[in-house]
Amino acid sequence: MEHTPGFLHAILDSINENIVVIDPAGDIQYVNRSWSAFGNSNNACMSGDDWQTLNYLAECDKASAMGDEFGANAAEGIRSVLNGGQPEFYLEYPCHSPDEKRWFMMRVAPLQLNEAGYFVIVHHNITERKLAEEKVSALARIDGLTGIANRRAFDEFLHEECRRCMRLGKPISLAIVDLDHFKLLNDTYGHQVGDECLRQTAALLQETVNRPSDLCARYGGEEFALIWGDTSLEQARQLLNQFLRSLSDAKMLNIHSPTGKYLTASIGLTSMVPTTDSDMDQLIGQADHMLYIAKANGRNRIESLDEGHPREMTP
Ligand code: GH3
Ligand code: MG
Ligand code: MG
Repeated sequence: MEHTPGFLHAILDSINENIVVIDPAGDIQYVNRSWSAFGNSNNACMSGDDWQTLNYLAECDKASAMGDEFGANAAEGIRSVLNGGQPEFYLEYPCHSPDEKRWFMMRVAPLQLNEAGYFVIVHHNITERKLAEEKVSALARIDGLTGIANRRAFDEFLHEECRRCMRLGKPISLAIVDLDHFKLLNDTYGHQVGDECLRQTAALLQETVNRPSDLCARYGGEEFALIWGDTSLEQARQLLNQFLRSLSDAKMLNIHSPTGKYLTASIGLTSMVPTTDSDMDQLIGQADHMLYIAKANGRNRIESLDEGHPREMTP
């Protein structure tokens, strides 16, 4: 078959990818049908019916000036291909519409046609992959047994929240909760009952975290960790006392435990206004140490340290 311009246009218009061709100044020379359709249905990102008058780089610069970091990255990448700084450029970016999440990847490559140099920019919809990645990433942060955040999520959250409290000059409180004589509970009633007790405990602890700046995580086997941003030690202590009362009300039998016939927990609590990044490790170290003291002092209690001032509290 003869490859007429009409035939080649028809091929380009049948492709799902949005294709734009620009000249070395960034002026748009060609768009395929998908690009036009995308532009028309999409107010948030680059659009426009009269594409012949648009300069692609100017549009990216406009988006960048409005605070769109991807517009700035795109402009920089395209310019570096235009200047011969790199052979091609690739960028993944979000482009959400009011009613759906969408991501695209953009690829820029040079196109030599006779004596003239052009650049082909292709936008490909990668929403399906990004949504799958989001799902995997969320699952990777959840503890399989209890359904609450896991250690990895805890580490990330503590880092973020510490930095936020550091910026705001606000206190952050951190508690480590360890179930008492839990090995005995497993030995007496079996692992499945033990698992159910961990699930119930997690649900009770989850009730103490209500704000976006709070997190309850499974820290290890029968240990949990809690973070409350912008929260004083006193406020955190009240929440933990409430938890210890709920745990006691739940009456989970641990008949051979020397601490009592129902399951109890020991808690190390600490609070500080962070001033350096290393305060994060210090918070964990302090909470851990106070937990050790709670165990040594007879279990079923909270021991706390408020910026270096020890205080004992029993429920
Ligand atoms: P202590 O009061 O000193 O903390 O005593 P403990 O028995 O709770 O502490 P120890 O560290 O000796 O034992 C912890 C137990 O927690 C041992 C382990 O069998 C149990 N455990 C850890 N992870 C799980 C789990 O996922 N499911 C169940 N059922 N048990 C678990
Ligand atoms: Mg333990
Ligand atoms: Mg224990």
